[in-house]
Amino acid sequence: MAIIKTDAILLKKTQLRETSLIIDFFTEESGKIKGVLKGVRCPEPQFGALYEVFTLDRIVFYEKKNKDLFIISQCELIDFFPELRESLEKLGYASYFTELIDLAVESGEKNKAIFKLLLDSLRILSEPGSAKRLTRVFEIKLLKELGLMPGLKSCVSCGKEVATGKAGFSIIGGGILCRDCFKSDPKVRPILAGTLNFIEHVSVTPMDKISRIKVSTDVGRELERVMADFLSFHINRKFKSIEFLQEVGAL
Ligand SMILES: [Zn+2]
Repeated sequence: MAIIKTDAILLKKTQLRETSLIIDFFTEESGKIKGVLKGVRCPEPQFGALYEVFTLDRIVFYEKKNKDLFIISQCELIDFFPELRESLEKLGYASYFTELIDLAVESGEKNKAIFKLLLDSLRILSEPGSAKRLTRVFEIKLLKELGLMPGLKSCVSCGKEVATGKAGFSIIGGGILCRDCFKSDPKVRPILAGTLNFIEHVSVTPMDKISRIKVSTDVGRELERVMADFLSFHINRKFKSIEFLQEVGAL
């Protein structure tokens, strides 16, 4: 029975009994895991602060024989990200990050790069700056880590190189199409060169350098639509946090 100690970001929690919680974590060492935390007897305010969504925790867990659930034997709070809880907009974006990871990543697939992406994104979101641009960066980098990066260099149907400004974008095809291949996707859409450049640039640039990239309003709007459609088609889910962001007027 392996006992694992790791940093972990809390994705989701469900009350099991008065003193037990089922928690989904994205862990640094073991990817996404679901575990039960028993014997939670903290007073209510502390309880709330300890086991909240998108806190960074240090946990110890082990596998119980013939059970899908891990047993979480320790959970120590490292960072509560208080700034993310003081604004509805930031709360919505942070929830979107954790929800997207919960939906897109299979349980038990170790991926330190995704753990770092989520942690870096929560930290950057805590600071002043554009939450929308950060969200596009998060989406693009997550697609890359999942092996779902859109094809941007050449036509995804015939492989021909496509000149800037002459490409269409196919959500279903997973990238750009040349004019000869537009017929392969009736829903092919025009796409700005600036949008393709942003996606390409973000995919190869470290997180700490990306804050300097400027995005025009047109490119920003197009990126938002393209990424939303691309993610919902390729991950095939509807995100509750997107609805929440729309309700609070952040989108
Ligand atoms: Zn083609």
